Amino acid sequence: MAHVQTLVCRECGHQYPIAPIYTCEFCFGPLGVAYDTEAQRATVSRESIAAGPPSIWRYRDLLPVDPPGDASARVGYTPLVRADRLASELGLGEVWVKDDTRNPTNSFKDRVVAVALAKALEFGIKTLACASTGNLANAVAAAAARAGLTSYVFIPADLEFAKIATTAIYGANVVAVDGNYDDVNRLCAEIAAEQSWGFANINLRPFYAEGSKTLAYETSEQLGWETPDHVVVPVASGSLLTKIRAGFDDLFSVGLLNEKPGVRISGAQAQGCSPVATAFADNAQVINPVKPATIAKSLAIGNPADGYHALDAVRETRGGIAAVTDDEIVEGIRLLARTEGIFGETAAGVTVASLKRLAEEGVVRPDERVVLYVTGHGLKTLDAVAGPGSGPTAVIAPTRQAFADAFPETQPGR
Ligand SMILES: *Cc1c(COP(=O)(O)O)cnc(C)c1O
Ligand SMILES: [Zn+2]
Repeated sequence: MAHVQTLVCRECGHQYPIAPIYTCEFCFGPLGVAYDTEAQRATVSRESIAAGPPSIWRYRDLLPVDPPGDASARVGYTPLVRADRLASELGLGEVWVKDDTRNPTNSFKDRVVAVALAKALEFGIKTLACASTGNLANAVAAAAARAGLTSYVFIPADLEFAKIATTAIYGANVVAVDGNYDDVNRLCAEIAAEQSWGFANINLRPFYAEGSKTLAYETSEQLGWETPDHVVVPVASGSLLTKIRAGFDDLFSVGLLNEKPGVRISGAQAQGCSPVATAFADNAQVINPVKPATIAKSLAIGNPADGYHALDAVRETRGGIAAVTDDEIVEGIRLLARTEGIFGETAAGVTVASLKRLAEEGVVRPDERVVLYVTGHGLKTLDAVAGPGSGPTAVIAPTRQAFADAFPETQPGR
């Protein structure tokens, strides 16, 4: 890993050796990975990437860890699909959907976990853990099972049944905490200080976060090493949004893009948990924590760790942040499914509905090339689309007459 130098405090710049640590001893700021950009420029090329595997490990020269011995779990390199029907419904021009439902546990969290796990193995860690809003639990449990590690995943007790069942199935210790995600996260920080475990999004967070950059890398490679004009990204802790922006910038720094990217970054939140959207709308310098109340549970973080970085990214790139209602979320899920044949979870509903809102407000424009990040699969949040429109179109007797009566438009001469 010649291209990885140190961990560096994102606030005061103090440097630390590579280790499972995440806060600065001097200012308590979050740590990030510092790379040797010159070394990266010298080794990575569009050709070296194209020769790599169809997974996040094709970007190994841009990641803080070598691929693990068994990199056969196909994480990442998901389809980027042109979404013309969606675009025309929204009055937009060129829209693409990055379909990250197509990961081993059906969310983008497989990316961040793959990087955190590889680093955990390098550190000799035997137990993988996390504080999760749902998808991270799935990804940690599955990846730990495959690597033969023990796992402990901590979740808010009111999580969707599907997300609990699809975590327990991998043999994880599932700890349902009577509280919201912010309570779970605080408890995990305390446990992390006592155990020699690797918490994917706590003491392994500097490495975990780097995994999100692969979404920007893939988007650009799949666009023929160009960049979008505008991206719309769901926001929970704000890490994904911050790292997608950083990922595009990194591609330029290491010489993979011809021009400095000017990607506008917009965020998507549910109105029932919209601390970052609220600060943006109020033009405020302070993000006030909230108590989440939304069907978009995967985004229900009331006190977002990377909220300020996300806010800066949106402001600096002249994007916007929408806060959409639960009804708009459900309509967003349906709109994406009906126009593009992609079934996203509630977070995807938030993202689609936010794109719709931002398009109506003129923040996202018809002359822009737009990429929408669909980060999790709809089968995990089926309850959100129960009710009208989710059952059969008609229930009929097993006769041709009954069919004709129920669907007269299908009959000749009518
Ligand atoms: C975790 C998650 C996000 C965003 O997470 P950040 O904490 O902002 O990095 C987005 N979509 C889904 C489906 C998620 O599970
Ligand atoms: Zn510091």
